[in-house]
Amino acid sequence: MKETLVPDYFGSMVFDDRTMRSVLPAKVYNSLKKTIEQGAKLELNVADSVASAMKKWAVEKGATHYTHWFQPLTGVTAEKHDSFIEPSPDGGVIMEFSGKELIQGEPDASSFPTGGIRATFEARGYTAWDPTSYAFIKDKTLCIPTAFCSYGGEALDKKTPLLRSMEALSKQAIRILKLFGHDEIQTVRTSVGCEQEYFLITKEMFDKRPDLKYTGRTLFGAVAPKGQEMDDHYFGVIKPKVQEFMTDLNKELWKLGILAKTEHNEVAPAQHELAPIFTTTNLATDQNQLTMEIMQKVAAKHGLVCLLHEKPFAGVNGSGKHNNWSISTDTGVNLLSPGETPYENAQFLLFLCAVIKAVDDYQDLLRLSVATAGNDHRLGANEAPPAIISIFLGDELSAILDAIELDTPYSGAEKKIMKLGVDILPRFARDTTDRNRTSPFAFTGNKFEFRSLGSSNSIACANMMLNTAVAEALKIYADKLEGSKDLQTDLHQLLKETIKEHKRILFNGNGYDDSWVKEATEQRGLSNYKTTADCMPHLLDEKNVKMLTSHKVFSVAELHSRCEIMLDNYCKQVTIEANTTLEMALREILPAIEKYEEKLSNTLKVKKSVSESIKCKYEEYVVSNLSKLADSIFDGTTELETSIEKLKDAKDIIEESELIRDLILPGMEKIRKSADEAEKLVAKEFWPYPSYGDLLFSVK
Ligand code: ADP
Ligand code: MG
Repeated sequence: MKETLVPDYFGSMVFDDRTMRSVLPAKVYNSLKKTIEQGAKLELNVADSVASAMKKWAVEKGATHYTHWFQPLTGVTAEKHDSFIEPSPDGGVIMEFSGKELIQGEPDASSFPTGGIRATFEARGYTAWDPTSYAFIKDKTLCIPTAFCSYGGEALDKKTPLLRSMEALSKQAIRILKLFGHDEIQTVRTSVGCEQEYFLITKEMFDKRPDLKYTGRTLFGAVAPKGQEMDDHYFGVIKPKVQEFMTDLNKELWKLGILAKTEHNEVAPAQHELAPIFTTTNLATDQNQLTMEIMQKVAAKHGLVCLLHEKPFAGVNGSGKHNNWSISTDTGVNLLSPGETPYENAQFLLFLCAVIKAVDDYQDLLRLSVATAGNDHRLGANEAPPAIISIFLGDELSAILDAIELDTPYSGAEKKIMKLGVDILPRFARDTTDRNRTSPFAFTGNKFEFRSLGSSNSIACANMMLNTAVAEALKIYADKLEGSKDLQTDLHQLLKETIKEHKRILFNGNGYDDSWVKEATEQRGLSNYKTTADCMPHLLDEKNVKMLTSHKVFSVAELHSRCEIMLDNYCKQVTIEANTTLEMALREILPAIEKYEEKLSNTLKVKKSVSESIKCKYEEYVVSNLSKLADSIFDGTTELETSIEKLKDAKDIIEESELIRDLILPGMEKIRKSADEAEKLVAKEFWPYPSYGDLLFSVK
């Protein structure tokens, strides 16, 4: 059989620009394009025409239903399927789909968290089409990417603030570009390419672990004799079963127009990575959500389970997501790319400094944008960047900034003092030390790589904060420079001030080093929020509320609801983990220990009955140690039960999250420690769960 060629099916399930151009009347296409590119209002007659063409296209591809696809605040995506079919007067069915149905939907949203925004009598929110993200077909359903709002217009999803943040950044960046004479630019966009890490294990092993099933991570498990010490997985060949999965996954993603490009093994056994080619941020966000969903579906087809949890295995590297981020104009210029001319260089340095200022001023927002119960296990655990946010620029770019700050000659070039807008920046190569993976926020030549995201995070959260913080820095710059009589001098002064004021956030060293934590917090005054409970309440700090509302990315009510929902997610997730810990300990682990003790005690009795002089060192040692461990596990469960009871008395969600941090998580850890010790003593056939070795080396 002839192999189907990739170009034949690439994007075949997406209502993308290519498809729109071919199926829409020219007038409709142009009008829609204007909406997509310039945010012009979409007229209902245009929407009707788009809906009709979209439906025809989808039905021809076998779709029977449509859904408004959106991202509620719980982290997953949601969809409510409606059939295209409407009864026709003659008793048959006709396929219907109007512009109104395309533009707006009413999911029964009473079950999605709103953090108190929506009064209970108002049980419904509505979804609104985001024409800047393409519709696609998945499982015979036309999925229409949408924003999700309450009737009062408050955002109840992750897409709405992301779109607003992109608009805010565009508006301020255009002001700056005008100062450099670029009147032609109408839109500035941020682009993202995110590298997604994940684990693959067999379904057979997964099914034997209640912890993986209920919580996505193992709550028990002694370390395997072999882990990631040898780095042999990273450099090793991809296993056949994994290769089959990757091939199939690529094909499914390509059909949806997602340019999955690279795939390789990661550091930990059973860990892999996928990176798509970067695209506009809101599209990249939708595509990443879709990628995570498709990964899990394709894995299931191959008898595998794809784990997206940040820390499925203790003692083994967890999974993150690197958010490669850049800013570019609608004329195709990457504003984070050092230019060829003095003018371009000045412009580049301005945008670079705006990012530095933004990251320093709003480190707390960036930290909390990646905060989840799962990600708390990675950050600062010597495998991912610390919870302290800092920027890596590399030695050369750092030296250039030093020279600007101090008006000293830059030694890399011809040893002269640089004047912005006059001198060409010395060429600097992409710093090879960017392989230093310990920095949370690294400049990599023409983009920044924000590396603190967890593997299951929606990238919307990080990017809405990043975009808005940079918009704020650009706004401050624009306010200062717009009236300037001598732009060159004033800009130079502004950059000098920025560098002086914000250089504390720049750090090229090893972020895993203990001395960095000390230096960062004690000398530089950088924040170090270790847990979600620590950082999330800062969303409501006055400076943050002021900044986020001034750019109209959030309303005050939205911020309050978001803080509450994020903390609530954290508490719920850990509470489920605590209950699973209890269930496993009390109903499977303790009984298994008991059984093994019984077996050994019987053996001991038999041996002694043969002769009192037979030494039973092994039996005695194991029974006595297991008894101690069993008691300690049991004490731990009693304590944890009491702690869970205490959660009910918390006066608000902040207090509850503090109890989770201070009582529940340490309580679970205590039980786990004794149980993992016991696992090492109990015969394999008696232990109720597959070991770490079984799980990590399950895929052949
Ligand atoms: P690495 O060396 O870290 O693997 P790559 O160049 O392969 O870097 O890029 C990793 C990710 O960054 C990919 O998803 C890629 O599409 C994305 N990327 C590359 N250039 C840009 C850019 N200018 N803006 C945003 N993302 C980018
Ligand atoms: Mg990278």
